[in-house]
Amino acid sequence: MTNAQTASADEAVGALPLVGHWIDGAPRAVAGGRTAPVFNPATGRATAEVALADGDDVAAALASAQRGFEVWSGHSIAKRQQVLFAFRELLSSRRQELAAIITAEHGKVLSDAAGEIARGLEVVDLACGFPTLTKGGYSENASTGVDVYTIRQPLGVTAIISPFNFPAMVPLWFFPIALAVGNSVILKPSEKDPSAALWMARLWQEAGLPDGAFTVLQGDKTAVDGLLQAAAVQSVSFVGSTPIAQYIYEEASRTGKRVQALGGAKNHMLVLPDADLDLVADQAINAGYGAAGERCMAVSVVLAVDTIADALSEKIQDRIARLRVGDGAGTDAGEPDMGPLISAAHREKVSGYVDIAEADGADVVVDGRGLSVDGLEDGFWFGPTLLDRVPTDSQAYTDEIFGPVLSIVRVRSYQEGVDLINSGRFGNGTAIFTNDGGAARRFQSEVQVGMIGINVPIPVPVAYHSFGGWKSSLFGSAKAYGAHGFDFFTREKAVTARWLDPATHGGIDLGFPQN
Ligand code: NAD
Repeated sequence: MTNAQTASADEAVGALPLVGHWIDGAPRAVAGGRTAPVFNPATGRATAEVALADGDDVAAALASAQRGFEVWSGHSIAKRQQVLFAFRELLSSRRQELAAIITAEHGKVLSDAAGEIARGLEVVDLACGFPTLTKGGYSENASTGVDVYTIRQPLGVTAIISPFNFPAMVPLWFFPIALAVGNSVILKPSEKDPSAALWMARLWQEAGLPDGAFTVLQGDKTAVDGLLQAAAVQSVSFVGSTPIAQYIYEEASRTGKRVQALGGAKNHMLVLPDADLDLVADQAINAGYGAAGERCMAVSVVLAVDTIADALSEKIQDRIARLRVGDGAGTDAGEPDMGPLISAAHREKVSGYVDIAEADGADVVVDGRGLSVDGLEDGFWFGPTLLDRVPTDSQAYTDEIFGPVLSIVRVRSYQEGVDLINSGRFGNGTAIFTNDGGAARRFQSEVQVGMIGINVPIPVPVAYHSFGGWKSSLFGSAKAYGAHGFDFFTREKAVTARWLDPATHGGIDLGFPQN
């Protein structure tokens, strides 16, 4: 158990601290309810128990969030902006505390945990400017004596359901904007790493957010379904795997909610023969094995044009040999490059995909199965793995593996590479590596993917552009943050106003109003 974890727990289950809900500006007592273990993936040991909400917890969260909305939406723009700036300063100055919590429950290395907080902070920065971004428009004298203007209002209670792989950044894609414009938020984090959400709830309170405006509801499907069925919940922002994203999209739509549901990915990088292969190999390593491949924008397939495939494979192998895998919290020897996977079950799944690739005829060039780390033998380790000549009808190619497994697929041409990318069911991110501007420009136009990198392997857009994929990587039309975020979390009204006076009102006329 780490100090970071005990800092967010208020009760205990047996010998382990309990990570509970945050409702009405306080931890909610949950003695006797369902719980699930939370592990430190580097040691393989349970460090806490997380509460799993039941119907009463959901009802308490909803009632508090409705009250929170009434209070918070009544705050002036100036007051809301002050709270946002205060939260921004607190998060910025105390980010190392949060990074330690993330590493202890997720396993990613500390610098990577700090990186996800930095990217989340970008959205807080953006949200601080909400008065400019939501002030609407005014058209004086649209018709004689008639003015037309738009105003944006908050939705009410909004729900965020987030995945395990970015316990801070993904919620931060949504809640700074949702709150800035006056909504209340119920965050249902992943039960695998629940403490970051609780830590951020306390930070909001310190920043001056009224109780009930930010709620954390811990749990599993019961909590999610409770939110989906609740009439009070006006919108759902989901990030996770594709089957659950589709379920959320369908259920939330059925109950009349606004919904954005971001799903899984299988991201390809296409390498053309003119690219600098040393730089490409570095980028493939960073994007393939960073966070042990547990990123929705990880590169999992390298499409190498035949003429350079052998040379590129060798350069990637050289670099894999130098990667250090270990406890993300670091040791006396410093920080490793890569931490463990999230759970033993997930390690089995990743391992199973390498078995499938092998059985389907792929070359297992570097095999991470069976890796162990000295002194941490029970950790959920899986070493960087390189597959070559992966058949494109193998499930190891078509499915998202979500682990440190990089597959090389050899293509004869640029066109064959683009056709392969476009034939996939996902469309989250992709990248091309080339010095040929014409090829890059053609790629950005022809590829059917939502986020594209040109010599950039993980093209996560900055906060003032929006994040989201195509096809099975995003259900719904609203992406995360940027202009999409402000549109998603507000409802627009258009007001047409005339102050009656005898000279312009026109008398009785049953025709349709015209200018
Ligand atoms: P997941 O789908 O298992 O879980 C996501 C959330 O849904 C969690 O809060 C979980 O408690 C809840 N959930 C799980 N099963 C549910 C069910 N049957 N009914 C209702 N709710 C349920 O995803 P994960 O394993 O936590 O995260 C990894 C996945 O998320 C990967 O597929 C990854 O690509 C994806 N992801 C996508 C993006 C993106 O931007 N597109 C970003 C991050 C992660």
